[in-house]
Amino acid sequence: MAQIIDGKSIASEIRAGLKEDVTRLLQSGHRRPGLAVILVGENPASQAYVGSKVKACEEIGFYSSSDRLSADVPEEVLLNRIKDLNSDPLIDGILVQMPLPGHISEKKVIETIDYRKDVDGFHPVNAGKLVIGEPCFAPCTPAGILVLLEKSGNLPSGKHVVVVGRSNIVGKPVANLLIQKTRSANATVTICHTGTQNLSRFTRQADILIAAAGKPESITADMIQDGAVLIDVGINRVPDPNSKTGYRLTGDIDFAGCEPKCAAITPVPGGVGPMTIAMLMKNTFLSATGKIFY
Ligand code: NDP
Repeated sequence: MAQIIDGKSIASEIRAGLKEDVTRLLQSGHRRPGLAVILVGENPASQAYVGSKVKACEEIGFYSSSDRLSADVPEEVLLNRIKDLNSDPLIDGILVQMPLPGHISEKKVIETIDYRKDVDGFHPVNAGKLVIGEPCFAPCTPAGILVLLEKSGNLPSGKHVVVVGRSNIVGKPVANLLIQKTRSANATVTICHTGTQNLSRFTRQADILIAAAGKPESITADMIQDGAVLIDVGINRVPDPNSKTGYRLTGDIDFAGCEPKCAAITPVPGGVGPMTIAMLMKNTFLSATGKIFY
């Protein structure tokens, strides 16, 4: 039986720890850490993510502000709002929920956020610092994956990790984190993408496989080696006539097929997903306490 890596429980431990940290911080006379969340438009998935982030702030004891802007908001208005938040002394972290409507440049939005408040870790300054191994805000999902590996007793040091996907928010940063010469990383990393020929030739060599392609159940049992550790980042909605909503959530890994063959696996939902918000909260706390940039 494979170890099922319970991201929900690891994430709630982290959130409980942060709640205690906030209590101590307030007792020492510090103000509450503050997170500003901006949502543009009415994408239901984005609304749900923003709602969960605001709820997490309340639970941990952070101050939060949330702006809900209409889908046709001019880019200039959004950029000016970010600039106001950059200079707001009550705000330590700024998060603009992606994706944005087509008339708004995601690149401009990310680059307008002060990198010292970029708790999503997407600003080029943070991305660059991550590569050269300097203190920075690491993107939340990749940072969460490293914590999951460590807390589940599957340290990547000395292991061959194969990452499927090279996006700027998951694939590249998780690979960059994993090659750092640190206790929780220190892995040998291969990155695969749509230009990779014969994907399974690489995935079969993985001691740890990180699937982040956004392709439902595309990693099958014949593509992994016995005893591999499988981290499923994918969150895919697939039609399901038996479900009330008409769809179900599934990962990039065929869980039922791979579970008997692997040593450990993250479920979807309840694996990597909950770690993302926990790490966002952690980055906001680190920002408030000047632990990264001061
Ligand atoms: P992107 O679509 O931005 O990137 C997907 C990457 O996978 C690309 O690099 C693409 O290659 C590669 N890819 C796609 N198909 C294949 C294939 N058949 N073989 C090899 N590589 C392939 O997705 P994201 O990185 O944003 O997200 C990936 C998944 O993770 C999604 O399901 C998303 O919903 C989920 N996600 C989950 C999060 C969480 O909190 N758990 C957070 C963020 C994302 P190429 O570059 O060549 O196009």
